[in-house]
Amino acid sequence: MFVVMRSTATEEEILGVKSRILAEGLTPFSHEGQAGTVIAVVGDGGRVGRHLVDVLARLPGVETVTEISRPFKLTSREFHPEDTVIRVGDHTIGDGSLTIMAGPCAVESRDQLLETAFALREAGATILRGGAFKPRTSPYSFQGLGVEGLRYLAEARERTGLPVITEVMEPNQVDVVAEYADILQIGARNMQNYSLLTAVGRVARPVMLKRGFGSTIEEWLMAAEYIVSAGNPNVMLCERGIRTFETYTRNTMDLTAVPLLHHLTHLPVIVDPSHATGKRWLVKPLAIGGVAVGADGVMVEVHPNPDEALSDAEQQITIEQFRDLMAALVPIHEQVRAFHGDPVVPAATAGLAGRH
Ligand code: PEP
Ligand code: MN
Repeated sequence: MFVVMRSTATEEEILGVKSRILAEGLTPFSHEGQAGTVIAVVGDGGRVGRHLVDVLARLPGVETVTEISRPFKLTSREFHPEDTVIRVGDHTIGDGSLTIMAGPCAVESRDQLLETAFALREAGATILRGGAFKPRTSPYSFQGLGVEGLRYLAEARERTGLPVITEVMEPNQVDVVAEYADILQIGARNMQNYSLLTAVGRVARPVMLKRGFGSTIEEWLMAAEYIVSAGNPNVMLCERGIRTFETYTRNTMDLTAVPLLHHLTHLPVIVDPSHATGKRWLVKPLAIGGVAVGADGVMVEVHPNPDEALSDAEQQITIEQFRDLMAALVPIHEQVRAFHGDPVVPAATAGLAGRH
């Protein structure tokens, strides 16, 4: 349920609504948008009854009270019509600029990471990626360098100025990963690890939530809802391919998810054509596709010598291929922006304030 306050509502009236909600054992989350204050009533669905709609509608300062059938609330466009813009150092994600997260699948050594980081910065990457804790399908595969890998990432950030993103796999790793990284990544295999989602919801670091390979858009948004409702509003979503009957590619990249998510949620959307396709030569066309359908950013795996990579060798592109990719993406992104200020959601979408 959302309570839309009048534009003339006073602080006291807003507080009055919030305390009434708390008195029902429910939680109010307010958002001050361009159109005024909206208060989401969050809690056990069964208890947010019809009577509360009437009670809240009669309180001073209240314009309307609407029951929302969507299970996700804080991540929905209805609650927060403006796009969420996430700040990471000097960089912003979700404001119409193009974020390029690039780097090796795994941090393998200090030299490998630094060499890649300097080359990527020169080529135009905005964020450095690299796994220190790796979720591997086989327990016998390389599992990552752990904290040593985090230290190399922090050194690469100091030396290149690029913020870093890396995966956190367990709740008890959140503090150490947050100490070194600028953005915490939740991997596809952990999208519904609710204790991990709650743990990253409690730290002051942006989170990138990858889509589980068997997850629906709604399940994905509900996972994001865990993080936001735990107190962290800086969440971005990453489409990295889902599992279908197709076997030529590692996964099937769901490009429809990008405009659909922009319609449903205010959170930024990133695409990862590396894990989605699993094939080096498919990364460029699918990265282009992702930008063309309105992604706020692209994540790609880049390795100085992909054939020698300790993980995901077949999908990592070379530094040279990354330069070529950037040369393609930058003008496409400019065209998408020039074509519409709003590349994705038609401004007249009923009931929704379009993007921008
Ligand atoms: C990764 O980005 O390093 C990764 C393991 O991806 P995913 O969780 O999408 O498989
Ligand atoms: Mn990988």
